[in-house]
Amino acid sequence: MKCPECNCMNTKVTDTRVSLDHTSIRRRRRCPQCGYRFSTMEVYCKTELIVTKRNGMEEEFDAGKIELGLRKAIKTDEYSENKIEKIMQSILQNIYANYPKKISAEMIGQFVMVELKQRDPIAYLRFASVYKNFHEAHEFEQEFRNLES
Ligand SMILES: [Zn+2]
Repeated sequence: MKCPECNCMNTKVTDTRVSLDHTSIRRRRRCPQCGYRFSTMEVYCKTELIVTKRNGMEEEFDAGKIELGLRKAIKTDEYSENKIEKIMQSILQNIYANYPKKISAEMIGQFVMVELKQRDPIAYLRFASVYKNFHEAHEFEQEFRNLES
């Protein structure tokens, strides 16, 4: 690590502390050139969520696509922005809590439908009819039955 004061490249670690839950490490450093002391933290990088598509291809998760689908399904009125925000939050929580690393596109669609069904039945039907266009009918009906049960 470069010294933030004098840009010296040879700062020394003087102390290393692991956090109680062992998910982060804090290091005290000292610059031998100017004597400046500072700390650095080592934490996990947030892993990128991967979406597996029906054709077997994988892509990075893009929450914007879900939002686009919601905007097509939900009738625009004075409450729609607030509603879309709440639904998005709930869907993203479900996704990251259950599938933090990898999720199928089908499962994302299912989370969206469950959420819409609870909060906006008309938007749910609209979304489901669009969703059906992209999938074979019997798979859609299977998912529909799963939701019903
Ligand atoms: Zn320095």
